[in-house]
Parts: sequence; structure tokens; C-alpha cells
Amino acid sequence: MTEDKKNENPEQGNNEAQDASEEETRDVSMFCPKGAVLVIAEQILGDLQPVTLELLGAGRILADKMDQPLKCLIMGHELGDLPQQLLEYGADEVFVADHEKLKNYRTLPYRRVVCDFLESLPEPPHTCLLGSTTTGRDLAPRIAAHFETGLTADTTELDIGPYDHKSKVDPAKVGLYPNCLYAIRPSFGESLKARILGPWKNPQMATTRPGVMVPLQRDKSRKGEIKKIPVNLQDNDLRLEVVDVVREIAKGVKLTEADVIVAGGYGLGTQEGFNLIKQLADCFENSAVGASRKVVDLGWIPYQHQVGQTGKTVRPKLYIACGISGAIQHRVGMSKSGLILAINKDPDAPIFKFAHQGIVGDCYQVIPELIEQLKKQMSKDKNKDKDQGVEAVVGTH
Ligand SMILES: Cc1cc2nc3c(=O)[nH]c(=O)nc-3n(C[C@H](O)[C@H](O)[C@H](O)COP(=O)(O)OP(=O)(O)OC[C@H]3O[C@@H](n4cnc5c(N)ncnc54)[C@H](O)[C@@H]3O)c2cc1C
Repeated sequence: MTEDKKNENPEQGNNEAQDASEEETRDVSMFCPKGAVLVIAEQILGDLQPVTLELLGAGRILADKMDQPLKCLIMGHELGDLPQQLLEYGADEVFVADHEKLKNYRTLPYRRVVCDFLESLPEPPHTCLLGSTTTGRDLAPRIAAHFETGLTADTTELDIGPYDHKSKVDPAKVGLYPNCLYAIRPSFGESLKARILGPWKNPQMATTRPGVMVPLQRDKSRKGEIKKIPVNLQDNDLRLEVVDVVREIAKGVKLTEADVIVAGGYGLGTQEGFNLIKQLADCFENSAVGASRKVVDLGWIPYQHQVGQTGKTVRPKLYIACGISGAIQHRVGMSKSGLILAINKDPDAPIFKFAHQGIVGDCYQVIPELIEQLKKQMSKDKNKDKDQGVEAVVGTH
């Protein structure tokens, strides 16, 4: 593992590699030659999970950087147009494992399919990516253990770059690895970004936090290959039977898909404060309510609203933080939002150090005023639309 100071550009990354004289540097690229990037897709009851599209976006960049194809493996039963969608979101080739026993996720059958598939390839992919979801976190370590390869969990950035390995512990491994997967994730409370490398063997594996990578725009004209792959499950894989699947459908817009998030913290003082947060959120289209962990722990709002290190990572266009101090564990979940507006009565609250806009004041004075102003603005916009409509009608007569 190497550790970078925050914001260091991995492109400029390995000064050691640049400084090393040619005779000192031995090419050991045979350990991790360039190769395809493989995304393991995730679908639940026939719905592609957003993290899969995000992984395709990130995987496309890595594959292009190595001039290699982006492949995707999807498992399930009667998957309809999902393989085609994967092509439209950036994959060059999609491999489909369709079997009734793969309808619902189960560790052993899914592990069997992925491992068999990887073993059937003439060369392992260079990189293999999964989402840091319940499924991805369960499956990824089993694949990594099977192939005795490295895996980095919960990455927030990915890149390809060189690594000059100088440790003489294993002399055969000393040398320059030109195409390593840089699996980058915050560590020590985001004071450092750890760049974690596992160049000894392909596939180099990583799971990626949902909501962090950027998916490509869907392009229905994108073409690629869809191939069915054999599924050879063994009795041993089917020891666990899924009797029923009960899903609690979250009400309202999902946090990771919202354009605007209004989040409340301990500064609200009471659970009822979230009524105000909801009213402010309702002023925007495609909005959702977020929360700090402190209020989730207090039971003021369910966990599914929590933003941060142990909650969701979000990147809405607008994030309004109300009565939230801006602790590092909260910040890591929302710092990539387009515009952060903080409302806090303490002018020295840490959130003001990274918010784009701030209002120093009491939530209970500021939020009602904001709601009123937004409503006035909305009715002005409506009247304008009406007037324009009238003008348009008049214009046609
Ligand atoms: C391992 C670990 C993981 C964690 N994961 C997360 C996580 O995922 N997400 C997360 O959020 N936290 C997480 N935390 C907790 C985190 O460290 C903070 O404790 C938490 O974020 C604080 O929540 P808060 O900002 O709501 O409360 P506080 O820190 O108490 O801040 C309340 C703020 O409200 C302001 N305020 C008070 N009254 C008003 C008012 N009337 N109007 C306006 N402002 C007012 C205060 O000035 C203060 O800044 C984690 C901690 C640990 C150790």
C-alpha cells in the first residue's frame, strides 16, 4: 500500500519511478500485463443497480487508458434487455449467465459462475470491479481468495499507473510495473488518500462505493457483443435455498439518485425538525431528505437517510446541510456535491470550511424564510409560464 497526500495526482504519481535510473529499473510487467477490464454487474429482481452503470463509466476510462476492451458479466434469470443496456452504458462485450438458480443472489452459485468464467478465459482480465454493495462485498473476497489476488474495498477513485517496487524481500518482484490498478480510497478519516496496489497478479480487484463514479450517458446506438456463457452449478453450491424475498420499497426518491438533498443534523434539536427539512426538500423536484449519523443513532430518522462514511455517498447538484457540524465522517459522503449550502448557527462550524455557500443562523429562522422565498419564486415562475402560454396562444391567432 502506498499513501498519497490528499489531492495528489496519481498521473504525476510515482516520483520514485521517474527518478530511478534505467539500469536500476527492471521491467516486471509480466506480473500484471495490460488486459481487459471486467465489471461484474448487479441486478436485483431484474433492475440494474445504479452502481453497475457507475462501474461501467469508471471501467471505460481504465480500459481506454490501456487500449483494452471493457467487458461485463451479468448473472440472473430471464434478464430481458439488461445485457443490451450494459452495452449502451459503455461495455464492449457482455457475458450472460442465465439460469433459474441464479434468479436471486446466493453466494456460492454466483461465486461458481464468476470463477468458472474467469478460468475459461485465455488470459485473466487486468482489472475486475464490483460495487461496494451487500452483494459485491460478499462476492468479491471469495473471487479474490479463489485466485489468490489482491482486492481493495470501498474505493472512491480508480486509475492506471506505474509502480516502481524496490523492496528486496522478494528479489524476483523488484522492478517497474507499468500498468498497475491504482485503487484509491480515503483513510485515516480522509486526511490521507491511500493508493492501494496489488500488482503481483491479474485480475487486480476493487469494489467501489455506490454514488461516487460517474456513469456514461446511455447511447442506444452503441454496439457490442452479447454472449451466453455456460452455467455448471454443483450440488454443493445449492446448499442454501432462498425461500422468499421480501423487499421493503423505500418511499420517495432514493438519496443516491436525487438532484437535491436537504439534510438535517443534531442542530435541529428534535425529531420534529425533520418536518421542516421535508418541507424544504418538497420545494425542489427530484429531491430527498438526508441526515447525519447522530440523528439516525437517536432514532429521529431511519438509517436509509444517513449520509457519510457509514451511510450513503451522494453527489447531488445541491446539498443543503441544516444543523450539521461537518464532521469528517459526514463530509466524505457528500463533499462531491455540485453546490453545498450550509445553515448553522455557529460561524466556526467545520462545515463552513468546505461549503460553497453558508448561512450563519438558526435553522428555525432560516429554513422557513427559505421556503417562503422559494415558494414565491415558484409561483412567479408559474405565472411567467402562464403568461408565456397566453402570449403563445395570442400569437397563434
Ligand atoms: C466510525 C464512525 C463513522 C461515522 N459515520 C458517520 C456517517 O456516516 N455520517 C455522519 O453524519 N456521521 C458519522 N459519524 C459521526 C460523526 O463523527 C459526527 O458525530 C456526526 O456527523 C455529527 O452529527 P451532527 O453534525 O448532526 O451533530 P453535531 O456534531 O452535534 O453538530 C450539530 C451542529 O448543529 C449546529 N446547530 C445547533 N443548533 C442549531 C440551530 N438551531 N440552527 C442551526 N445550527 C444549529 C451546531 O452549531 C453544530 O455545528 C461517524 C463517526 C464514527 C466514529
